[in-house]
Amino acid sequence: MKADPVHQMRLLDLQELDSALGRLAHRARTIPEIAEVQRLDARLSELQDQLAAAQTRLGDLDREQRKAESDVDQVRTRAERDARRLEAGQVSSPRELEGLQSEIASLRRRQGELEEIVLDVMERREEAETRRADLEKEQEAAAEERSAAEERRSTTAGEIKDEEAAAAERRTRVAEEIPADLLALYTRLRDQYSGVGAAALRYGRCEGCKLALSTAELSEIRVAPSDEVLRCEDCRRILVRTTESGLQA
Ligand SMILES: [Zn+2]
Repeated sequence: MKADPVHQMRLLDLQELDSALGRLAHRARTIPEIAEVQRLDARLSELQDQLAAAQTRLGDLDREQRKAESDVDQVRTRAERDARRLEAGQVSSPRELEGLQSEIASLRRRQGELEEIVLDVMERREEAETRRADLEKEQEAAAEERSAAEERRSTTAGEIKDEEAAAAERRTRVAEEIPADLLALYTRLRDQYSGVGAAALRYGRCEGCKLALSTAELSEIRVAPSDEVLRCEDCRRILVRTTESGLQA
């Protein structure tokens, strides 16, 4: 293939812009905040589950507390009724009196036991409330952290997008200067060889594969017409001669 040396040189500019665009796309994919937001989303969903569990536990303890309190009330009511009967002198025989007194004593004991249960439930309820409050605090902090990370991610993504737009615009202008057949060859090679289709020959070395050309190859290149489109023998990329190619010697 033949191409004006000026157009061959333009290929290097195009390559530089394509490489820059590739780096920008990679940067956009790997913004650290993307992973951070994902991590915080996972944490938030975990906290959501833990909060739901804490809420359920509080509901259970509420029911348990109401039940224990109603048990206490029942026993107390019965003891009070018995005490009133005793005070009102509604007892006819000493045996009945003894029975009533013993029932009152046993009801008081039972009341004491049930009150212990109420206290125990209240204590556990307090713990569960503390746990819920802690989880809510953590949830709030994680949500704030997430929104800050999301904001940084969005800012960085916006900056990258601006840089991409500017590079893409320059690329369009440069590509317009390059003849269609040369551009097509470059595009094909770039797709084939991990994003690099054209490389400079610099001090006897191909910048595409970084390998030094043999003396024989260099001798061939020295006598090749300047409009001849050269290819690296090693990596097959378009090899562009520059003032730094090291062909003078
Ligand atoms: Zn090469």
